[in-house]
Amino acid sequence: MKLLVTGGAGYVGSVVTAHLLEAGHSVVVLDDCSTGHADAVPHGARLIVDTLRDAAETVLASDSFDAVLHFAAKSVTGESVRRPGFYWEQNLGHSLALFDAMRRADVRRIVFSSTAATYGDPERTPITETDPTRPVSPYGATKLAIDTALASYADLHGFGAVSLRYFNVAGAYAGLGERHDPETHLIANVLAVAAGHAPEVKIFGTDYPTADGTCVRDYIHVADLAQAHLLALGACAAGRHEVFNLGRGSGHSVWDVVKACRDVTGHSIPVSLTEPRAGDPSVLVASSRKITDELGWKPTRDLHDMVADAWALIQRA
Ligand code: UDP
Repeated sequence: MKLLVTGGAGYVGSVVTAHLLEAGHSVVVLDDCSTGHADAVPHGARLIVDTLRDAAETVLASDSFDAVLHFAAKSVTGESVRRPGFYWEQNLGHSLALFDAMRRADVRRIVFSSTAATYGDPERTPITETDPTRPVSPYGATKLAIDTALASYADLHGFGAVSLRYFNVAGAYAGLGERHDPETHLIANVLAVAAGHAPEVKIFGTDYPTADGTCVRDYIHVADLAQAHLLALGACAAGRHEVFNLGRGSGHSVWDVVKACRDVTGHSIPVSLTEPRAGDPSVLVASSRKITDELGWKPTRDLHDMVADAWALIQRA
């Protein structure tokens, strides 16, 4: 297939692009490189550096694309609280420009990178796709609004759309890993200590109602996540918008992550126990039953693999 990948210079977008190329697809990446990196775009994909708003129309009209995989977004929760208007404009505004350009070019298949942040603070775990969506940040709210827009475009414009709601993505693949600036994610922050880039890692809160008092999250390897995108692409059906959660269905605490990183790196990794981070729910674990039952997706890599692959990449740098 001929595919347009928006945000293909980012962490998840670049790993998915690598998988699409390996599967024999032809890929054009559209990325403004505001947070992504041009050198993360895998060889074999063509990179166009521009915004969705300015370029989606021209790019889609310039070739006959079969489908779009849409990753381009602003995704830092704390920043979204400080700059909500910017997030609405960049995420929802640019997505609507993309969807209208798709409609005009008659490209109606799309896989969208959504998030567990659409659920907010859940009433129960594991979270299923029919659970209430009550995002607690502008970031989560913009992603939910895009899911809602896709449902309309499926219903009214015949789009075949799949939203994948990621839980905590980690690990590396084919030399591609997390390169956020500033880095906020736990595994990257813990490994930065082992790599000598920071003296200690802060553990945000030790008094949560969990077994060891630290927050529990559902970590998923970026390569398992990428495989789900290939399955989702095959599942885009005209007139339908489907939502699938993507996690492993099991939780790990912040302490579990620190211990896994100590095992993999052999480094003592000093920690400091600090106040909870605002807005962090105590437990976020996905039910991934729907995507397993309906699309046959099965994750094959565990927390140890995620840490080991991320660490191997850091050591290569
Ligand atoms: N966390 C932490 N120290 C860090 C970064 C994160 O204790 O330096 C905790 C954070 O409070 C949360 C969990 O680790 O409970 C996962 O955070 P992350 O930012 O990786 O993902 P999120 O679940 O917020 O999307």
